[in-house]
Amino acid sequence: LRVTFTPVHRRDKGTTGTIAVLEDVTEQEKLEQSRREFVANVSHELRTPLTTIRSYAEALDDGALDERQLADRFVSVIRNETERMIRLVTDLLHLSRFDSNQVPLRRRATSVPELLEEAADRFAFQTSQKGIRTEVYIDDAVGTVWLDRDGIDQVLDNLISNAIKYTLDGGVIVLSARKPETNALAISVRDSGIGIPKKDLGRIFDRFYRVDKARSRNMGGTGLGLSIAREIVRAHGGTITLESELNEGTTVTFTLPAPDIREGGEPA
Ligand code: ADP
Repeated sequence: LRVTFTPVHRRDKGTTGTIAVLEDVTEQEKLEQSRREFVANVSHELRTPLTTIRSYAEALDDGALDERQLADRFVSVIRNETERMIRLVTDLLHLSRFDSNQVPLRRRATSVPELLEEAADRFAFQTSQKGIRTEVYIDDAVGTVWLDRDGIDQVLDNLISNAIKYTLDGGVIVLSARKPETNALAISVRDSGIGIPKKDLGRIFDRFYRVDKARSRNMGGTGLGLSIAREIVRAHGGTITLESELNEGTTVTFTLPAPDIREGGEPA
């Protein structure tokens, strides 16, 4: 609560009283606080790869360049850190477009079975490298839905890449689609991975929030994947939830409004 006092003057009588204004500033303060936190996070996240790059470049300069094997390793660290920074800046750009409502959805009639099969295919190489099995289940009622294909592909990519990152070798990932009610579509990405502790579940969609910062970084994560997924789902008028059991696995489900498609491909 902010209180401002303004003295009231009258030319003939001098100060005659005071006006007190009470304002509720909690919302405003909260916004300001989260903006400050965000800027601090961004600066920190960008600084970390930059300092790594600088120190490896210095080491190369100081003689490592003459030892072939060492030089190769250092150059590959520099490349990885650069890639991560590019991903981070791309993610930030995405988020800032959402924040300023600059992302018009381009909805078109999209076959959901095709959507999920193709998403699974994009990750076939990564999953086979970790010996992870991928299963796809589509309920009979699920067919073609009106959605922004690029946006939902991005949601699926973020969720599936997390499922792979946080699942140990030999695990299983299940993609499924169903219609919880007539005009809705629910898509889930379930993994048999490491899971998330209960105490972290409340903040897991926050920008830059990670259960284990060091591990997420080593995996190439930016801490923005889930926040971006949530923005895209919200832009569709949908919701996204995450359930997890430590050491058992995680399920992320997003539900989209999905009116039936008419003959011509337009929603009914
Ligand atoms: P990151 O780039 O770090 O993966 P995300 O926003 O995608 O960022 O996820 C935030 C955090 O949530 C991750 O750092 C990780 O701790 C946790 N997380 C997300 N998905 C999973 C999952 N499928 N299994 C276990 N932990 C997960």
